[in-house]
Amino acid sequence: MFDIIKINLKTGCATIPIQAKSKKEFSVVGNELKNKIKQLFGGRSLHVRQIDAGSCNGCELEISALSNPIYDIERFGIHFVASPRHADVLLVTGPITRQMEPALIKTYEATPEPRIVIATGDCAINCGVYVNSYAVSGPLNTIIPVDVNIPGCPPNPTAILQALLSILDRLPKK
Ligand code: SF4
Repeated sequence: MFDIIKINLKTGCATIPIQAKSKKEFSVVGNELKNKIKQLFGGRSLHVRQIDAGSCNGCELEISALSNPIYDIERFGIHFVASPRHADVLLVTGPITRQMEPALIKTYEATPEPRIVIATGDCAINCGVYVNSYAVSGPLNTIIPVDVNIPGCPPNPTAILQALLSILDRLPKK
């Protein structure tokens, strides 16, 4: 145990602090998004349902980071919801596995129109490192219609926010 403590004391903090520039960029995009949501929803918020259709969880780490105290996406009026019936946007990650395909289709059908679908990460766009796997049905756009792609393995929180901003113009005013 003392060896571990010694190593930890020598190593110090091993995480990379968030860059001031990217933090600022995130807030700029976020505030733009907030104004857009206010315009479109008249003071209500944008609801996002995340679907892991077979990802390695790398994309989920970035998506979870959106809700942490650093990024705090809720301050811009964006909420993650547990039910597709409450969602405006489906944020789908991973190559679509054969096991998850029926659940994905059911979730898509349960989401009220106009529903926006975002392929999040390289796997959802083109199966990424899992291409040609026996367990994979195919990329997201071969299963359900996709409105926007966010490339990256995984995409960072600012890229996810930017994608949300880019699709809001397609939503009719509620
Ligand atoms: S895009 Fe990368 S991080 Fe995201 S699920 Fe695929 S392998 Fe994992």
